[in-house]
Amino acid sequence: MADVNKSFNVNGRAYPFIDHTFDVVVVGAGGAGLRAVTGASEAGLRTACITKVFPTRSHTVAAQGGVAASLGNMGPDDWRWHMFDTVKGSDWLGDQDAIEYLVRNAPAAVYELEHWGVPFSRTEDGKIYQRPFGGMTTKFGEGGPAQRTCAAADRTGHAMLHTLYGQSLRYGAEFFIEFFAIDLIMENGACRGVVALDLANGTIHRFRAHKTVLATGGYGRAYFSCTSAHTCTGDGNAMVLRAGLPLQDMEFVQFHPTGIYGAGCLITEGARGEGGYLTNSEGERFMERYAPSAKDLASRDVVSRSMTMEIREGRGVGKNKDHIYLHLDHLDPAILHERLPGISESAKIFAGVDVTREPIPVLPTVHYNMGGIPTNYHGEVLTLVGGDPDAVVPGLMAVGEAACVSVHGANRLGSNSLIDLVVFGRAVGHRCAETIDRTGRHADLPADAGEFALSRLDKARYANGSSTTAELRLSMQKTMQNNCAVFRTGDVLEEGVKLINDCWAAGSDLKVTDRSLVWNTDLTEALEYENLIIQAVVTMEGAANRKESRGAHAREDYASRDDVEWMKHTLAFIDEGARKTSLDYRPVHTYTMTSDIEYIKPKARVY
Ligand SMILES: Cc1cc2nc3c(=O)[nH]c(=O)nc-3n(C[C@H](O)[C@H](O)[C@H](O)COP(=O)(O)OP(=O)(O)OC[C@H]3O[C@@H](n4cnc5c(N)ncnc54)[C@H](O)[C@@H]3O)c2cc1C
Repeated sequence: MADVNKSFNVNGRAYPFIDHTFDVVVVGAGGAGLRAVTGASEAGLRTACITKVFPTRSHTVAAQGGVAASLGNMGPDDWRWHMFDTVKGSDWLGDQDAIEYLVRNAPAAVYELEHWGVPFSRTEDGKIYQRPFGGMTTKFGEGGPAQRTCAAADRTGHAMLHTLYGQSLRYGAEFFIEFFAIDLIMENGACRGVVALDLANGTIHRFRAHKTVLATGGYGRAYFSCTSAHTCTGDGNAMVLRAGLPLQDMEFVQFHPTGIYGAGCLITEGARGEGGYLTNSEGERFMERYAPSAKDLASRDVVSRSMTMEIREGRGVGKNKDHIYLHLDHLDPAILHERLPGISESAKIFAGVDVTREPIPVLPTVHYNMGGIPTNYHGEVLTLVGGDPDAVVPGLMAVGEAACVSVHGANRLGSNSLIDLVVFGRAVGHRCAETIDRTGRHADLPADAGEFALSRLDKARYANGSSTTAELRLSMQKTMQNNCAVFRTGDVLEEGVKLINDCWAAGSDLKVTDRSLVWNTDLTEALEYENLIIQAVVTMEGAANRKESRGAHAREDYASRDDVEWMKHTLAFIDEGARKTSLDYRPVHTYTMTSDIEYIKPKARVY
């Protein structure tokens, strides 16, 4: 149902556009987007999926270690234990109703993946193989490590994404591949669709839908060194900010302990799950001091901080004593070959290391964004202004790393993101099926729908300042890396707020040299930068304002968690025109979804 009808005139230039009408439009074809597309189209809804990269190139493809579910294939397990670990991992910032929804639905979601054809590694008796992962325990933390992370060797995301893409094609969903979504179409506080640019031929497309689902992933590229793909620019998050809606908990940025030194590529936590361990320049297994029981498998924030402390105290390895060693050289080469083939290859290519003989040089590296678009556990985006805390934005949903449900709170446990994608992707499909009136006609779009997106596109396209996107991006990335990292203090954060606002202001000096609309990476990178910088600003400001330490947000000047003042979610808003931001807060949900489990009360978080 596409037709060329109108054209907008922006600054004297005509932009003809093509209109489309769907029941559901999903932006993003990573694990979250594809699971939502499958569910919505299976329910008989006319579904479109827009993606700026080919679906199987989405960052989900790079996930290594696995997907968490309490199947109990390798020993006793229980969803309640998974819930306890996730709550504790979140440092009590996660919403426990949503966490209960996640862990209870996790086993079914993994079996569904199995039946759809994900080639999981197997135990001797043919069950799905599960490995230990950081922070995953038994008996509410009292019973030792749980083997809960279901793995397809160290290529779990690759296996999942390819399988999900296959499934998503089964029910007639239409794909718009290499289409770059620019902005939402909003009308009186409701989302009516989205505007996108077809990168291959430069045409503009207006998608009208009952539900628009943002599944656009994280924004790791706001930092200089990160494990995520160059495409991880949080475009959906930025669209939400520009629509006047808040993002939640943006100051919580996860550093993965083991990025390859220099390159930033990930070495999965599964490497430590299989028995790998960290050492300092004295050859000491220092995690035994910081986390006496979980040791190298403590939660990620804990391990990253411990490594940073070792380096600061002069016990880093290498010429500049600025990194740490990860040892796998004591493991049986046959196990390495079977369970960790991908990382053996990465270590060879990116660090020149043969893992069977030498340790891998590693450093904490930006890996995951706990913050994002606030939703309920159906995937509906919360309004969060005005009186009703449960009010949702009509027509708008979000899922995956872009969303903040919040199940990960202040710190995500490894393997809990892949399960988040499929559990909540499925929930989105169900919610669309329940709430969309298939007989209802689509209301006409307002006459100016799309004008906002096109004026931004035109502005970037003809930006005629003196700084290239690469220059602006680099100064943003360095600022985030220097001023908003593993350890934070008031002075450094305040300086960061100033510097990052300077970067934002410098955007008015942007220069784009290529004016074409066809395959113009100069233009799309400029749009991505504009998306990144506003997320960087709210991340820094949220961090400067949160005067406590919780999960991934570790302040040296406020070293402990403060549940009285700070057990609350941050909400960040921007006014792009005025270049202003504001922060607000909302309570964490201190209730569960059902009476099958009680609210897990906050306590000290030790591993
Ligand atoms: C190296 C690495 C290893 C990881 N390993 C694990 C692991 O073992 N276990 C685990 O649980 N988690 C892991 N994670 C985290 C997890 O993989 C991610 O959080 C998750 O895959 C994100 O999925 P997503 O569907 O939300 O987004 P993504 O997979 O990032 O997909 C985003 C999609 O949005 C589209 N998109 C974005 N912007 C636009 C736009 N403007 N217009 C159109 N389309 C757009 C992209 O084309 C893409 O299809 C890992 C992450 C990394 C980086």
